[in-house]
Amino acid sequence: MKTLIYCRVSTKEQAEQGYSLEGQEKDCRKFAFDNGYEVDKVFIERGESAKTQNRTELQNLLRYVVKNRKDISCLIIWKYDRLARNLSDHTELVNYFSSINIRIFSVTENNEDSPIGKLTRNMIGTFAQFENDVKSERTTNGMKQAVQQGRWCWRAPIGYKQTKDSLNKSLLVPIEESRFIEEAFTMAETGMYKQTEISEHLRKKGFKKITKNLLNRILRNYLYAGIIKVDWFPDYIQAIHKPIIAKDTFFKVQLLLDGKKTSITPKLRNHSDFPLRNFIRCPKCGQKLTGGWSTGRKKVKYAYYHCRTKGCSLSVKKNELESEFFKYLSSFQPNKEILELFEEIVLNLWKSKQSERIKEQLRLEKEIKEFKEKEDKIFDYLLKGTVDAETYKQKTEEIRSDSMIKKIELNEMKIELDDIEACLNYCKFFLSNVANLWANADINLRQRFQSLIFPDKIYYEAGTFRTTATALIFKQLQSKSLHELDLVVPRGFEPLLLE
Ligand SMILES: [Zn+2]
Repeated sequence: MKTLIYCRVSTKEQAEQGYSLEGQEKDCRKFAFDNGYEVDKVFIERGESAKTQNRTELQNLLRYVVKNRKDISCLIIWKYDRLARNLSDHTELVNYFSSINIRIFSVTENNEDSPIGKLTRNMIGTFAQFENDVKSERTTNGMKQAVQQGRWCWRAPIGYKQTKDSLNKSLLVPIEESRFIEEAFTMAETGMYKQTEISEHLRKKGFKKITKNLLNRILRNYLYAGIIKVDWFPDYIQAIHKPIIAKDTFFKVQLLLDGKKTSITPKLRNHSDFPLRNFIRCPKCGQKLTGGWSTGRKKVKYAYYHCRTKGCSLSVKKNELESEFFKYLSSFQPNKEILELFEEIVLNLWKSKQSERIKEQLRLEKEIKEFKEKEDKIFDYLLKGTVDAETYKQKTEEIRSDSMIKKIELNEMKIELDDIEACLNYCKFFLSNVANLWANADINLRQRFQSLIFPDKIYYEAGTFRTTATALIFKQLQSKSLHELDLVVPRGFEPLLLE
């Protein structure tokens, strides 16, 4: 019994979730071996090209099947969603294979041909589509959210391993090797050793892979101090994993590496009691306000924001400043008409930038039409007796499988467009709910919002805010001349709009 194998992975997926093509192929081969199938041919779809949904290998596979189906009894895939990302395409492919007596096996999912098995497969197909519909949120936004919660979602650095916690989310856990990291920092902190000396010492102690280059990378890595620093967010984020070294140590080492002698430890900015701390400025002296508790006469504690300059008297109750800030944020929320206009403009812009894609889409539609015409023509030949039934059957099968591929390519291209619409909806939701989102977010997100919307200085005095700059997007949405809008994707929104 011979089998075919089909593997596919997107580059994104590979980077994020680590299931590589090699891994998929190996799993599929093992499945074949365990179930007594001889692998006849393996089809591997490499990456996802930027312009088109490249399904050349699926096409080759279908062509191969048309020619060799007598010898082939099944197709092994790693997961059902490898076949197609859209339910109707998926169903069509599954039905096609079943009509020519080729069974599809998924290495990672239920393979029963019982009604339950079929239902499961169908649900998996639906789920794949659903997943795809919310793809943008699932990938980038999902990762951003994880990072904001202090989770490192990428490969673990030396000294840690990447695990899943009870919620099945990424969590770094120190491993035995972490003692070398600790020692590296302890030595570096003294300022008495050169990096070559530190790596030499560690190598002697058994840290074989250490090089000067690697040591430098280790000493610069925030993760060891339990801090996440990514381009997405302006601030440091407190990680939830166990640090290997103290923050003081880490920052001291940074200063030493930078060649500065003074040891000032930058403070982490997230203090959950005071989101506006280090953000709102004193109108008298321009200093950023800090937050603190003071005890009143009846030993009741009050929270205040106050200026840190000595002798400067500005002090405002936490509740007052925060509720005024909430009101101020609300005033930035664009109305419905403006939002609709914004959507239209962004979509138009996006579509025009996608002109190449649209050309590709038209090309595909034309090809599909041509296949249909070809099929009709062959049927005419059959009627006229120019071709025999056998040839007719073979030809139409070829045409149908080619046409099916084009349809899948086309559908997947349309999904890309749906993605941008989902992103826009999110964007609109964001824009019209800024104040509430801010009020309900955790400390990191709050501070991210603040600095996104007010990228420069913001002052508070007696119930009013004064700013030197407001995020471009809000400024544009405020202005009545939205039509003149210079549609550069505003900073901070690039990932939402362009993925
Ligand atoms: Zn002041």
